Amino acid sequence: MTLDYNSLLTALAVSAACLAATLMGSWLARRTETFLLACAIGLVLLVSAIIAYGLYVDTPTKSLAILSFSLVFPGFSIVWGAGRQFRTGRFPSTAVVVSAALAMISTITPMMLGYDGLAFMIDNIAIAAVLFATAFQYWQAREEAAVPLTGITILYCLTGISFLLCAGMLIRGGKLVLGVAPDNWAEDLSLAVCIASMTGIGALSLALHQWRMAARHRVDAATDPLTGLLNRRALFDRHGTGVMGPTTAVLVFDIDHFKSINDSFGHAVGDRFLKVFAAELTANCRGSDSVARHGGEEFAMVLHEVMPGRAEVVAERIRKAFEARELDIDGEIVKCTVSVGVASGRVKPLAFDAMLSAADKALYAAKRAGRNRVELASHLQAVPVDAARTAS
Ligand code: GH3
Ligand code: MG
Ligand code: MG
Repeated sequence: MTLDYNSLLTALAVSAACLAATLMGSWLARRTETFLLACAIGLVLLVSAIIAYGLYVDTPTKSLAILSFSLVFPGFSIVWGAGRQFRTGRFPSTAVVVSAALAMISTITPMMLGYDGLAFMIDNIAIAAVLFATAFQYWQAREEAAVPLTGITILYCLTGISFLLCAGMLIRGGKLVLGVAPDNWAEDLSLAVCIASMTGIGALSLALHQWRMAARHRVDAATDPLTGLLNRRALFDRHGTGVMGPTTAVLVFDIDHFKSINDSFGHAVGDRFLKVFAAELTANCRGSDSVARHGGEEFAMVLHEVMPGRAEVVAERIRKAFEARELDIDGEIVKCTVSVGVASGRVKPLAFDAMLSAADKALYAAKRAGRNRVELASHLQAVPVDAARTAS
């Protein structure tokens, strides 16, 4: 069985249409990744362009060529825009319109003047340029998921090269007027590369989508939605099995009389205070430290590589900063305070949960002593690691 050029074009159109439907379906399932929708729209335009070009191959009229150019460049530009949107989160509408318009003008003008050979040279070069630009978008984003993104980059580059070969063959032929659709080995090769890349890019784009979803779920599962801090589970995942030495400190914070804030001003105001306090914690920690919302209005901080006395200084700074924060609630100034318990592995290395309960004891000592203060666990009885392990 031999396959003619038009059968291969039909195969390309069918595989592009199937891919567009799959991408659209993935987008509909969870409408977060709009780059999938953009890609699907670009593909629909490309399918239409392929059909128009197939008709042109049979009947090479100016109007069919112009129709094909008018569909292919918006299609490829939108596919580039989808790549940019994948990387930056924003669809570059203006750049897509401008690049598609420029490519259309530079191909349709020679076609209308009768220089169809020249029009196809420019057509191939412009498509290759957009494909390389698309490859570059995914290449720049490769840190997120190296394997699928490098794969997508390579496939867009190979497709771009195949269009450059088509341009090269036409330039080598030197005919500005052809009268028929270009027909040489580069055209056949390019079509085969397009079919293979289309399938590969489609599969990798879907893999990428799943990859991103899984990463997002992992972050969601570890994050407290109100404050954006780690949640209790994530805190224990990070430190639960660790033994904390002399340079590690655990700080436990509990907002004072928080129930009365809720009772007097409403839950929403309570939530605002929780966010303000979370921001204060974040502002006072380094990249290696952990900050978590431990429970309702209770927070925990794990500091690493702290010099003796440093954890108390950090706790006191946060306490003071929070005390100074004022919220304007319908013209009334509302303030809040926090009590802090600090434990460090300086006295004896402790398991994380033992450190946490030592810090908790110090916190309740702070509450009993009148609130809005920092209390140290060092003078409270520390639980040695082995005893803590046996108990749990
Ligand atoms: P203390 O100084 O002894 O800590 O007193 P308190 O009122 O802060 O402590 P209590 O445990 O009696 O009350 C804690 C309150 O925190 C009760 C609960 O409604 C509130 N709370 C817990 N989670 C949230 C939340 O997500 N948002 C808001 N607004 N309030 C919360
Ligand atoms: Mg509490
Ligand atoms: Mg409280």
